[in-house]
Amino acid sequence: MNLLDKFRPLQETRNQLKALGADPFNVVVEKILSPTEAIVNGHRVILAGTNNYLGLTFHPECIEAAVRALREEGCGTTGSRMANGNYADHQALEREFAEFYGLPYGVVFSAGYLANLALLSTLPGADDVILIDADCHASIYDGCKMSAAEVIRFRHNDVADLDKRLRRLKDRARRALVVVEGIYSMFGDRAPLREIVEVKDRYGAFLMVDEAHSLGVLGEQGRGLVEAEGVIERTDFIVGTFSKSLGAIGGYCVSPHQALDTLRYAARPYIFTASSSPAQIASTRVALHLLRDGRELRRRLWDNAERFYDGLKALGCTLGPQLSPVVPVILSEDRGDSLALWKALLERGVYVNLVMPPATPDHRCLLRCSMSAAHTPAQIDRLLDTFAQVFAAHGLTA
Ligand code: PMP
Repeated sequence: MNLLDKFRPLQETRNQLKALGADPFNVVVEKILSPTEAIVNGHRVILAGTNNYLGLTFHPECIEAAVRALREEGCGTTGSRMANGNYADHQALEREFAEFYGLPYGVVFSAGYLANLALLSTLPGADDVILIDADCHASIYDGCKMSAAEVIRFRHNDVADLDKRLRRLKDRARRALVVVEGIYSMFGDRAPLREIVEVKDRYGAFLMVDEAHSLGVLGEQGRGLVEAEGVIERTDFIVGTFSKSLGAIGGYCVSPHQALDTLRYAARPYIFTASSSPAQIASTRVALHLLRDGRELRRRLWDNAERFYDGLKALGCTLGPQLSPVVPVILSEDRGDSLALWKALLERGVYVNLVMPPATPDHRCLLRCSMSAAHTPAQIDRLLDTFAQVFAAHGLTA
């Protein structure tokens, strides 16, 4: 065995996927036309598998700000925040995130992935404990791997299980960080956040909430589940990304604790990577304003989610447990069948994400669909018609 031999089984899997026409890296957006339309592998499609919840990727004010920053500040910073990459606009955006939540501390990162790595690898150390919801995102799992803390998983959205595990920790519960998400990325369901806050407070533990899929989506001002549930002040670390509702790339964390600010001196995923480009920061600053004032966008997003969710329900599809802009169509365990459905949808102009085990929580394949405020009712009706045709053509009720 040499260094590279272990990749053979993976290469085999990839070859099989390629032969079936399902290698994800061969699904190419050849031309992006708008937040909801593109040419993918030669087909003009409606995009129903992005995270563009508010449709801001093409907002003229965001583009204008990014273009201006590109012209005035260049393509990249060429260095980390600790060295030459600490621009006034990074700091301004940090203040704006902190103000948005009414909290004293805010830090931006070069990606949401890096925000999770930074927090989880640095906040909990040896002798501390991380308690994560089993359905948490890969970036949270990876952050846990980088930490010296003990990592304990609790059952997805099961507050009693969390309570039991905190109780077992006795005094160490005060050294525990509980990690959950606002809206979960695959099934679109929400954490029972108020109950989780009650439990962590009872034991003196700390709480981190990843609002990647709920920023801009939930809450009067779009601050996510923490706002919708009225627990902003009781949450210790609120994390999010620019890469979904804000339509750019980057990550952030806000907190009432000064430790977040001090983390700049210790978190390697913050220190040892280049800071976000001026254009990303500039478009995100504008997008954050649009998001905060985006009640109309949120209303449209939820109307669209409801139209799509109800339409798929009426077709007899098995969906996620809760109405959400993330709409999983849960299929069988059969990869071949699921792949055929996904391909047929693509060929007929519908782009969604095929997710196969082991990436799915319960070994079943799913079509991860998502809605945007930018979808029109006519587009949603076309999506539903196509689903109906494709399911009928494959001899499925739905
Ligand atoms: N957290 C969650 C829950 C996510 O779904 C994602 C992205 N899919 C991230 C973090 C990482 O965000 P980014 O794309 O900014 O790296």
